[in-house]
Amino acid sequence: MSGETVLEAQALTRHYAVSTGFLKPKGLVRALDGVSFTLAAGKTLAVVGESGCGKSTLARQLTMIEPATSGALLLAGADVTHADAALKKQLRQQVQMVFQNPFASLNPRKKIGHALEEPLVINTDATKAARTERARAMMARVGLRPEHDARYPHMFSGGQRQRIAIARALMLQPKIVVLDEPVSALDVSIQAQVLNLLMDLQDETRVAYVFISHNLAVVELIADEVLVMYLGKVVEQAPKAVLFATPRHPYTRALLASTPRIDKAARQQREVLSGELPSPLNPPSGCAFHKRCPFAIERCRVEVPVLEDLGGAQRVACHRVHEI
Ligand code: SF4
Repeated sequence: MSGETVLEAQALTRHYAVSTGFLKPKGLVRALDGVSFTLAAGKTLAVVGESGCGKSTLARQLTMIEPATSGALLLAGADVTHADAALKKQLRQQVQMVFQNPFASLNPRKKIGHALEEPLVINTDATKAARTERARAMMARVGLRPEHDARYPHMFSGGQRQRIAIARALMLQPKIVVLDEPVSALDVSIQAQVLNLLMDLQDETRVAYVFISHNLAVVELIADEVLVMYLGKVVEQAPKAVLFATPRHPYTRALLASTPRIDKAARQQREVLSGELPSPLNPPSGCAFHKRCPFAIERCRVEVPVLEDLGGAQRVACHRVHEI
């Protein structure tokens, strides 16, 4: 991606030791395994895959909720992985998060004005009057009536609550917002409005988005670049137009085939995704996708494919990428 890099992951890895039973040795879940990417100001990186592919672990890393096992995370050039507490506090203001269910992240007993002012109370010296003014201006900016700042969360619709969550995330003018399935709980007509709002806000502020979603139809609307993940690893990465026109990894092709598409040629290329995502505690050997892949050969069962640069900023991890 061109432009000022605001976020860079270098072989970011997060493993969890988990209990496998009484007196049994602990197992290791490789929830995130060597993920690398860069994200520029004003751009959107979509992270897609089935649930359990590592998307949520990645979100927790990016928002500094938990530390990496190895690798590095650079935020506006500063290394989060080795930052001291003071620097981490500063960097945390630069990355905000919007969840799928805004109701869960808004205190039902606190007025909306309070929810919007709270980040300013914690992180700035702004006076009460200045905070109220900024909160009201932000409400107007996301399409809400500023005079409704004395209302409680339950007095708003689902779409309005998601606008409030977006407003809250932007109060500290962060460089990055991580959006975790931000429209999947909303009606389709409301989804489009919220996506348009996100894109307008990005045009104005140059905020960068990490957009986590299982819905490729939504990703096609909003993303600049797409990262496809399977069991903690990136299996394909490409600019959006390239990925949707010429998906190269069998998993990406299967995900696209299971997404309703307007494009007739895309509809005809159906490759149905069969089987369940394997347990991350006991992933298949070699290519983790081999048990579900219609193109699997013996090599796939024994050798882990590495990401190969195919040109045009497209990278794919598949032994048979040049044949299929
Ligand atoms: Fe399928 Fe083999 Fe490619 Fe994995 S490496 S996606 S199993 S063809």
